Amino acid sequence: MIKVEEAVEKVMQFIHPMKVEQVPIEEAYGRYLAEPLIADHDIPFRDRSPLDGFAIRSEDTIGATHENPITLRVIEEVGAGQLASKRVGKKEAIRIMTGADMPEGANAVVMLEMVKELPDKGLIQIPVSFTPGQNVSKRGEDIHEGKSLVPSGTRIGPGEITLLATFGYAKVPVYKKPVVGILATGTELLSVEQSLKPGKIRNSNSYMVASLLIKYGAEPRIFQPVQDDVEKSVKAVEHALTEVDYLITTGGVSVGDYDVMIDVFSRVGAEIVFDKIAMRPGSPTTFAVRDKKLIFGLSGNPAACFVGFELYVRPAILSMMSVEHPYMLKLEAFLDGDFKKPSAYPRFVRAKAYVKEGQFRVKPVGLDKAGVTSTLKDANCLVYIPAGGRGINENDRVSVLMLEMPEGYSYDSSV
Ligand code: AMP
Ligand code: MG
Repeated sequence: MIKVEEAVEKVMQFIHPMKVEQVPIEEAYGRYLAEPLIADHDIPFRDRSPLDGFAIRSEDTIGATHENPITLRVIEEVGAGQLASKRVGKKEAIRIMTGADMPEGANAVVMLEMVKELPDKGLIQIPVSFTPGQNVSKRGEDIHEGKSLVPSGTRIGPGEITLLATFGYAKVPVYKKPVVGILATGTELLSVEQSLKPGKIRNSNSYMVASLLIKYGAEPRIFQPVQDDVEKSVKAVEHALTEVDYLITTGGVSVGDYDVMIDVFSRVGAEIVFDKIAMRPGSPTTFAVRDKKLIFGLSGNPAACFVGFELYVRPAILSMMSVEHPYMLKLEAFLDGDFKKPSAYPRFVRAKAYVKEGQFRVKPVGLDKAGVTSTLKDANCLVYIPAGGRGINENDRVSVLMLEMPEGYSYDSSV
């Protein structure tokens, strides 16, 4: 039996980065960038007007007051996307709209609302003085050429899409999605559409695992569940392995009479890297490798399957796409409730983290048996209870592993 940390480390030793593909920018959302995005030009590209007004020479406004406004002659008009054909000379102004490049000779912009226009005469009056650069978006003030904007391995969201479009990425280099097969095992399994029969349950694991795979950027392929039968399972695993990059099986890895999967992995020629981890739930979680294809034998108990996925499959998948922090974020919180009885194994308890009166707290979501499915939807984290100790009391500080990153939270303060 190995420790959780060791098991994770062993899995990570088998990770290879995915190949890169180019996708149209419309399809890049949610994918993982495969090259750093580096600015190849300044933004703004030239000095620009950030508002509707008049481009002027600040030196012409020296001494202007409400009682004694200065008067300038309007020589041209430019909208966004147009370029001025004239140069702003002494006591001259060009009417300019938001986003237009600054005309030659001008070094400040007076907002429309500030000037008195004398349209018949082609003149404006300005009641205050301006400083050089006032109301001008300077070249490069947003982004300087050469700046590294987004590192490789970043999940592409709306902000990244904005930059990709700004820098001309009609096609975006992203990591290929790992295609991951899902093979549920268990003679008791019914398909979702079948009606319940005594002794049987519907297969929920395949869909839970598929949605987790989608969540972390992989492409799930669900195979027809297989019965607890070595021959049939060998066939099913062999077949699945020909179609996918990696395989996840659920069920059949424990020590029961019909738990055949470890035998099956050996029979298909996979190397069993580990088949027992000191943890609750999910101690029978198994990991095998055949021809660089990772095979995760997750426990059949839905909660154990879920925890096994988050602990071992999630970092594997995310690392294949160069994600810098592939693990669940570890935070500390004050506990609601208690764990009086020390546990022989470390436990990962499904829980809900929340903030109350400025304090980060965590509350287990209810019945924590491995087979309980009703509370999975309520969990946004796992409380980590180390093995041994003297039990944990209400309001003690505990470690929590975040399943969901709270909106806007970051692993570091680089931005
Ligand atoms: P096993 O890991 O095969 O010993 O299964 C442990 C428990 O999980 C049993 O109660 C199974 O009925 C249940 N189980 C196994 N596979 C699934 C599945 N695909 N969907 C829902 N429950 C399952
Ligand atoms: Mg079973």
